Amino acid sequence: MIDSHVHLNRQEFADEAGAVVERARAAGVTGFLNVGYDLETSRASLALADRYDDVWATVGIHPHDALLLADEHGQLTADGRLRLAELEELCRHPKVLAVGEIGLDFFRDLSPRPAQHAALAAQLELAARLDLPVVFHVRDAWDPMLTFVDEVGLPPRRGVLHAFSGDAAAVDWALERGFRLGIGGVVTYRQSALPGMVARAGCDALLLETDAPWLPPVPHRGQRNEPAWLGRVLDTVAGILQMEPGAVERRTDATFAELFRPGKASTP
Ligand SMILES: [Zn+2]
Repeated sequence: MIDSHVHLNRQEFADEAGAVVERARAAGVTGFLNVGYDLETSRASLALADRYDDVWATVGIHPHDALLLADEHGQLTADGRLRLAELEELCRHPKVLAVGEIGLDFFRDLSPRPAQHAALAAQLELAARLDLPVVFHVRDAWDPMLTFVDEVGLPPRRGVLHAFSGDAAAVDWALERGFRLGIGGVVTYRQSALPGMVARAGCDALLLETDAPWLPPVPHRGQRNEPAWLGRVLDTVAGILQMEPGAVERRTDATFAELFRPGKASTP
């Protein structure tokens, strides 16, 4: 199984990334998509991907850091244009599989909303131009996010709604447009509405992820999450869908390969 969203370069893992990767491999994880969320972590993500054959990278600016690209009025800044050019440069590396994580976050509102919209639009344009899929982060902004993406135009390679927390309408939006849902530890939480959304979406629309070091599955709540615990997510999803875990694993692995095309790293 593949962890389609992890942050191995977070300080929570300190210098332990190698050991964390080893433990995950021993638990059956065969690939890691390590996600950047600003320039520094995007560079670090690519450095990790260069070090391990089974680690790939994404690069992008998170909505929390939208001011790196745009001002509070929603205009791209001069520095922002330079940073976009650097993102573009990083994207040309064969192990960079997607632009992300990008999106809208109205839960914490750490950056002004016009800046979030402008940063998202600029990075969607980048993904379209470079023929890359996107990794979306959406929190308390489902309606605005989905409306905005419809307005500015769907990224041609589509992408994943990571840490999916939307409602049935958001599931249907994703299904109709060919987006995938990233399902992680939250699906194991007793109070979660996510199992119902997983059932509605069906196996073909899903990707497995940990979002480690965050969102640990039961019974590890309160601990630092690890990709080695991805099997908890797999088993829970399989139970919801009344499928064999092995079948869910094969299907989600295939969906990962179709969406992110990791093989392009080895084609000249
Ligand atoms: Zn993330």
